[in-house]
Amino acid sequence: MSSVDTYFKNIGKGFWTVLLGMKVTMRHLFTPAVTIQYPDARMPIPERGRNRLYVNMDDCIGCNQCGMACPVGCITIETAKSLPTEDLGVTSTGQKKRLWVTQFDIDFAKCCYCGLCVPPCPTECIYMTDVFEFSEYDRDKLNYSFITLTPEEAAQKTEQAKAAEKEAAAKKAAAAAAAAQKAAQTQNAAQPNAQPNPPSAPKPAPSVAPTPQPAPAGAEAAPVSSVTADPQGSKTASSPENVQPPRPQEQAAQAPQELKTNDNPKGSAD
Ligand code: SF4
Ligand code: SF4
Repeated sequence: MSSVDTYFKNIGKGFWTVLLGMKVTMRHLFTPAVTIQYPDARMPIPERGRNRLYVNMDDCIGCNQCGMACPVGCITIETAKSLPTEDLGVTSTGQKKRLWVTQFDIDFAKCCYCGLCVPPCPTECIYMTDVFEFSEYDRDKLNYSFITLTPEEAAQKTEQAKAAEKEAAAKKAAAAAAAAQKAAQTQNAAQPNAQPNPPSAPKPAPSVAPTPQPAPAGAEAAPVSSVTADPQGSKTASSPENVQPPRPQEQAAQAPQELKTNDNPKGSAD
């Protein structure tokens, strides 16, 4: 091949290469734009995407299963027992509500969007939403409260539950005391001949003889007192020391007898 032919062949190859490159360019030139005009336009969120949580308090029974499942402890739940006279209704899944939920906070500053709190919920009232844009300048604003009660209502429900609990505890204690008393009475009735334990034998007197005390000067030697037991078992005090002077009341009681005795000078029993 001559050098002229080679020259024109290379020029043709160059044009063909340019045309191939321009083919890709021209194809993209007439396809629609792929830029999403965010925030006016948004990409669709995957169905199982994990974003901000939401709690439907109408269905929440305050069981705290979600709070216990949370690995970072960012769910705070407080409840108060309802009174027997209050009807809180049922959830959409048919479960009866018995607790007032007085606090239900989720701190999204701590939340790691793991989604572990969602499956344990028995009423399926806590779930992920497609909301992912909730940035704040103040971290405290990321603590979301979901309760439907006002703070005053929540405080009132808490106080009411505490008072009811205290009353129930007092009733329970009274019932327990009454039951214990009844049990004791039943036990006593079942053992009518039960004898009390015999008294323990008296301890023997110490064998140490009493030390005689010196009589005071000028006083006669006091007769030795003796206490003799009569056959009936009563004790008679024969010692003057053991004879007590009659009390005024006893004297008054004895006076008529003396008068009666003095009335009979002969001493005969007429
Ligand atoms: S998504 Fe995870 S970290 Fe966030 S509240 Fe639920 S369990 Fe806790
Ligand atoms: S698990 Fe569900 S029902 Fe129980 S406290 Fe959490 S959100 Fe409420």
